[in-house]
Amino acid sequence: MNVRTNDSQVLVLDEVAKRYGALTALAPTSFAIERGEFLTLLGPSGSGKSTLLKLIAGFEAPTSGAIWLRSRDISRLSPAQRELGMVFQSYSLFPNLTVAQNIEYGLKRRKWAADRRRDRVAHMLAIVKLEHRADALPAELSGGQQQRVAVARSLAYDPDVLLMDEPLGALDRTLRLEMESEIKRIHSELGTTFVYVTHDQQEAMHLSTRIAIMNNSEVIALGEPDDLFRNPPNSFTAEFFSDATMVAGRIDHDGRFSFAQGDTAWGDPTRRSSGLYLFGIRPRAAKVGVIDGAPVLQGIVRSSMLFGDETRLIIDSDAVSALRVVVPTRGRRFSAGQHVDISIPWDDAILLPQTG
Ligand code: ADP
Repeated sequence: MNVRTNDSQVLVLDEVAKRYGALTALAPTSFAIERGEFLTLLGPSGSGKSTLLKLIAGFEAPTSGAIWLRSRDISRLSPAQRELGMVFQSYSLFPNLTVAQNIEYGLKRRKWAADRRRDRVAHMLAIVKLEHRADALPAELSGGQQQRVAVARSLAYDPDVLLMDEPLGALDRTLRLEMESEIKRIHSELGTTFVYVTHDQQEAMHLSTRIAIMNNSEVIALGEPDDLFRNPPNSFTAEFFSDATMVAGRIDHDGRFSFAQGDTAWGDPTRRSSGLYLFGIRPRAAKVGVIDGAPVLQGIVRSSMLFGDETRLIIDSDAVSALRVVVPTRGRRFSAGQHVDISIPWDDAILLPQTG
């Protein structure tokens, strides 16, 4: 593989795989991470995210394949030899060192001169906006502040790559959102390459320049958040990332689409070839009422749940049970048992050809 010769690629995974006995924790995986990217590994629990991150960090050795860091094969190096920055959910700060000393720790270990250490610590404190807490002990800080110290400590010696494993998992919702914007800001200010693990779709969408979606120990989609959301390449990505409900359908030889359960057919303006399809409906793409020319499902409201400005409906129809639809709360009210027509404008439909 010659991808490793490309200068803009910081990290290259070359058919890297991990097995534990008979269990495949990571199927052979190849992709490259460009300098300055914010690459997120996103997937449900057990999909292989942590395994891949541990392989990059060096806490696990690959069963096969190789990992390249700036044209150096690091597959057999210890975590310390790889010199990557790391931030975990548990902050693992030194409790008896001050904030400044925690940040300075790695610089001392790398034998930076005192002046240079002082300047760098001051710079990092400014980056994470904790100048006023330089002399505090970790226990005197909030969870969010401790996490910022952990980030500053990991970035202080300017690693090629910062690895983060569910770093916001222990924080409450408000703090998590605040930390998301902090992390995003720090990433764009420093330009370091970030590799980030989360199971939270929204977090991944907010932060990432690219997302690798994992399922069953494989990377099944890799792309920019917006692209993955609009054009999911497979049904897992459509359901997991775009929150789409998938409905079986077909396009006949006249180019007309119908749901597998139902006789009505609609002209497909996107002119796809005939065959079986999965029709993906994102909750906010579905509209209540009949829209001319758009596929329509006739359903019955199973439940309606208020989420502030939005109301989430679960709708059953012949074609699909439990269709998720989100409507504005200020519009029409819905209650269980009510009949509704749901239209899906062609522009917003996801159509995935079914093979086999
Ligand atoms: P995630 O981080 O997405 O939750 P993991 O990478 O932790 O997933 O796990 C992927 C798969 O590998 C799971 O089936 C998990 O049970 C298995 N696995 C992870 N670590 C080990 C281990 N040390 N020994 C055996 N199986 C493991």
